[in-house]
Amino acid sequence: MTAPLRLRLDSAALVSNWRHMAKLSGSAACGAAIKANGYGLGSRGVAERLAGAGCRDFFVATWAEAEALADLGLGVSVLHGLRAEDPVDATYARPVLATPEQVRRWKPTGRPCDVMVDTGMNRLGVSAEEVGAGLLDGLAIENLLSHLVSADEDVPLNAKQLAAFGALKGRTQAKRMSLANSAGIALGADYHFDLTRPGIALYGGWQRSGHDAIRQVATPEAQILQRRLVRAGESVGYNATWIAERDTEVATLNLGYADGYLRCFSSKGLASADGVTLPLIGRVSMDLTALDVSALPSLGEGDWVTMSYALPETAALSGLSQYELLTGLGPRYDRIWA
Ligand SMILES: *Cc1c(COP(=O)(O)O)cnc(C)c1O
Repeated sequence: MTAPLRLRLDSAALVSNWRHMAKLSGSAACGAAIKANGYGLGSRGVAERLAGAGCRDFFVATWAEAEALADLGLGVSVLHGLRAEDPVDATYARPVLATPEQVRRWKPTGRPCDVMVDTGMNRLGVSAEEVGAGLLDGLAIENLLSHLVSADEDVPLNAKQLAAFGALKGRTQAKRMSLANSAGIALGADYHFDLTRPGIALYGGWQRSGHDAIRQVATPEAQILQRRLVRAGESVGYNATWIAERDTEVATLNLGYADGYLRCFSSKGLASADGVTLPLIGRVSMDLTALDVSALPSLGEGDWVTMSYALPETAALSGLSQYELLTGLGPRYDRIWA
């Protein structure tokens, strides 16, 4: 059964964005962050396409996310490390070890791992001091990672983290070093090391100037459940936040905040059909949203509209981050790759 809500996904745009980030990464290999179900797009669909394009390094958050991709035989790193509850004998992924406890848990396996070093985020990672004291000795480290705090801003902390991470060069057995996320790649060649880890840019997000090369990948489309004439003076939606100034044709869409289309889009969001822009009116409900469709007399019950969802612009309009816009897209969409 098809859903009354779908997410159009553009394979060519995804691959083009990855190739662009790979090119910007220069001689460094370019991986892909596909945590949170591929930023909401569907991690399997994303991983298959990027692997086909030549991507060899994938990053997920948890072992459950890695297990869901086990049959694809990809190189997957689990960013949240290795808890006591996690499968120390799993072969479909390797942990990004982040604490001395996790190092102790992994070392007896003798198998390859990644390691996260904290250089200022103070979230996950072992310290440079612990590395200096020999914590990682005897580990088969594929990638030594650190993560930038403010790569999307030009602040001194970037250079400070770069220096702290660079100082670890040659101090571990790691085969490769990796620092940059999407925005970090744009900071320049010094930040690329051996492997980059873009996420949001692959999915159409960009937080620095000059994002012309990055293409939109995900576009929500919602079906019209009902069209009605709302008389001047009547209201639409919860709490009557919108009142018709004149007789208005209104379409009710199968889309709401339970689908990640949050209430901040109330009376603000935009959709389109046949090239005509249609403004959202009233409050976004859990499962429904209303549009003023007076401009399109032919649009009716069963027709589909396209939601405006270009990430930089939609983030500015809604106040949500580009990451939230994607990762909040729930399970009720039919995800359709073209
Ligand atoms: C999510 C994540 C990335 C990707 O970040 P983007 O800003 O989406 O490019 C890279 N590295 C780590 C450790 C992450 O958690």
